[in-house]
Amino acid sequence: PSPLDKEQRQGLKAIRDFLKVRTSYDVLPLSFRLIVLDTDLLIKKTLGILIQNAIVSAPLWDSHTGRFAGLLTSTDYINVIQYHCQFPDEMSKLDQFRLNSLRDIEKAIGAIPIETVSVHPSRPLYEACRRMLSTRARRIPLVDIDDETGQETVVSVITQYRILKFIAVNNEPNTILLKKTIREIKLGTYGNLATAHMGTSVLEAIGLMVRYNISCIPIVDANNKLLNAFEAVDVIPCIKDGAYEELKGTVGEALCFRPEDSPGIYTCTEEDRLDSLFDTIRKSRVHRLIVVDDDNRLKGVISLSDILKYVLIHGEEDAGH
Ligand code: ADP
Repeated sequence: PSPLDKEQRQGLKAIRDFLKVRTSYDVLPLSFRLIVLDTDLLIKKTLGILIQNAIVSAPLWDSHTGRFAGLLTSTDYINVIQYHCQFPDEMSKLDQFRLNSLRDIEKAIGAIPIETVSVHPSRPLYEACRRMLSTRARRIPLVDIDDETGQETVVSVITQYRILKFIAVNNEPNTILLKKTIREIKLGTYGNLATAHMGTSVLEAIGLMVRYNISCIPIVDANNKLLNAFEAVDVIPCIKDGAYEELKGTVGEALCFRPEDSPGIYTCTEEDRLDSLFDTIRKSRVHRLIVVDDDNRLKGVISLSDILKYVLIHGEEDAGH
């Protein structure tokens, strides 16, 4: 192996060792807020709550059983939209649905239910990461159980973004060892990409997300140059106040509903090195990187799960794990 390989392996090992001695608690800031939604809330009311609080997901609480009841994410709203399309005559029924109907909506449209995984906050972070990768969950609630009462408490939610940020901020000496380029380590997806044009309808873009099981569709022009990206969270403002008409509009129009401070998209090239991706994660709120060539033409997509997977399990398979 070349010295580059050796350094890369050394960096990866150090990061994995770090994740094994840290817990999910360590990732949480000293002080934070957590918005938990009661499952008796009307689904249409929750949109305004998320927007008002500038969040895109929330843990659910069943106050009848006094138990944690899963996580509300943009996937649930995409399910609601699919329900609306499949049963257009049931608009008034849809308006009356509460969060505790989400599972029924899933069933009605034949969506595969998302496994509700949670981890205990004091388990090793490495374990939480492996759970994320095996279940494809992009975020996992941290649920603690009171020894005496057996009562469950949702402490917080950790996301792939938070974990990668935590690695980036606390491991600079290790991430700088990751000098191989994106091309060399084949990070991300190239070929058979789901893309849209500015004039693609929101409904079509949602259809692509469902079919590919992804949460981001790059938007390109006629020359395949990257213009922007439509994300699963962008559907939330589209159906606020039960305004399902907006879905017939274009993704170009839908992007105008984004909050002022939305960070936009991050790009990189195949010549960039993994350590520079960690630099970007350290400095900004990145949810994925879109790979372009020198002429800004779309080449591929690197999701946070692609990065997490590489950092956690690259090379492990051949080691017999
Ligand atoms: P995201 O939530 O950003 O869509 P995922 O973790 O769901 O990311 O991505 C799952 C896989 O799909 C990843 O390997 C990623 O590279 C790939 N992927 C992401 N976006 C697209 C796209 N628009 N077209 C094809 N594949 C994609």
